[in-house]
Amino acid sequence: MAKIIDGNRIAQQIHQEIEEQVRALRTQGVQPCLAVILVGEDPASLVYVGRKQKACEQFGIASRTLRYGADFSEHELLQLIGELNSDSSVHGILVQLPLPHSLSSSRVIQAIAPEKDVDGFHPVNRGKLAAGEECYAPCTPAGIQEMLIREKIDIAGKHVVIVGRSGIVGMPLAVMLAQKKPGANATVTLCHTGTRDLSYHTRQAEILIVASGRAGTITGEMVQEGCVVIDVGVNRIVDSTHPKGYRLVGDVDFAAVEKKAAAISPVPGGVGPMTIAMLMKNTLQAARKQSAGVS
Ligand code: NAP
Repeated sequence: MAKIIDGNRIAQQIHQEIEEQVRALRTQGVQPCLAVILVGEDPASLVYVGRKQKACEQFGIASRTLRYGADFSEHELLQLIGELNSDSSVHGILVQLPLPHSLSSSRVIQAIAPEKDVDGFHPVNRGKLAAGEECYAPCTPAGIQEMLIREKIDIAGKHVVIVGRSGIVGMPLAVMLAQKKPGANATVTLCHTGTRDLSYHTRQAEILIVASGRAGTITGEMVQEGCVVIDVGVNRIVDSTHPKGYRLVGDVDFAAVEKKAAAISPVPGGVGPMTIAMLMKNTLQAARKQSAGVS
């Protein structure tokens, strides 16, 4: 049976470290602050924004949640971001995605000052990440890398197979793990819907990271004995026995893969808490840099 990688436990360790650093910054008169913008009524986005707000409270980070209806115009949103960019009491700005179809996510993200882009989605931060320069790394890939490092799973020299090439998970993660840096230096294969024979690739993986957004993408036959599996997916499955009427599952058939893997992250309680912890870390970093006058 696989070792279960407990994202809640690791995030709790990070919580303690960050809380201490936030306290130290406060004694210097700096209160880290994150502004979270939510446009529309997407139910999953409401849950995610609530979690970020709660995490800020727990980590000692001030938060401003700014909620608008789906009729909020792009002009108004860009104006709001401009105001937050020039507000020195706000160190991080996050726009919850997806935005309603009437708004351009790319124009909105580009309006955020790169030094306040704690989600790491601005093209400047993406470019710096690809160039191996210091930047705000996107929170989910950063959380996965941190999870592997803290679990003492050696990444260097390993064959890492990533399923999914989105701009927020798979692609930046591939870039990060392939770099010649500590906690990286892996041989990376990036799979997507254009990949011929997905299971050929997944069976080669010493570390398999799955972010396809589809339950059951990885079955027991698709992994080799002793691999490490990180399940990023979050899928709602209708379940009338559950109080909410649904339950959350990942992209991996947990019961089957657990029997073969050396270690596996569960859903929920795996990558999710790590993503939030990295958002808090980026916000702390932003506050520290901005208060020191470093961009
Ligand atoms: P996305 O934008 O929909 O991207 C999915 C990627 O998976 C695409 O690159 C797609 O390929 C690929 N894919 C889909 N089905 C595949 C298959 N059968 N074989 C091979 N590749 C396949 O999703 P995302 O935003 O990256 O998110 C992925 C999952 O992670 C979602 O369930 C999301 O909710 C979850 N997530 C969790 C967290 C967290 O903190 N826990 C954070 C972010 C995302 P193409 O490019 O060819 O279409």
